[in-house]
Amino acid sequence: MKTEAELIVDHIKASGGTISAAARELEIKLTKQIRTELEEIDNNLERYRYAFKRHGNWFTLPTNKADTRDAQKLDSICLCCNKIHSVSLIGLVSGRSTGCHSCRMKERENIEVTCKKSGKTFSSIREFAASVGRDKQYQGIRHKLKSNGMIKINDIEYSLI
Ligand SMILES: [Zn+2]
Repeated sequence: MKTEAELIVDHIKASGGTISAAARELEIKLTKQIRTELEEIDNNLERYRYAFKRHGNWFTLPTNKADTRDAQKLDSICLCCNKIHSVSLIGLVSGRSTGCHSCRMKERENIEVTCKKSGKTFSSIREFAASVGRDKQYQGIRHKLKSNGMIKINDIEYSLI
């Protein structure tokens, strides 16, 4: 049979969180003896504190504790591309960071534009801007499409799909 310390470690390694939260959930009273046993099994259980949580497309992994909460970064998998990045805890819990930079860029670019007249579609704003010969005005075109949902070029209407 497993000792109470082992049960706590199992719980933390499966669900993350702190020693006291795990003990509370398992209804185990944290004694000095148990704390000593925990140290012996794994002296860095702190790294699981924020682990195994989903924030947007991020999934957090065990990470060593930083000096302050502000400085805390967490190794996190971007579930869109399976790459691991170091992401600030504050960005994660505030919801400001929801996935890795390149996936967010892709998402942002992955908008189709259609020509109302011909029905022709373009797989991105960039492609659209290039095909109407206005790649230099890309930012402006993008802004207009994003805010109005449509744009008129040479009297032809184009809109986002
Ligand atoms: Zn990604």
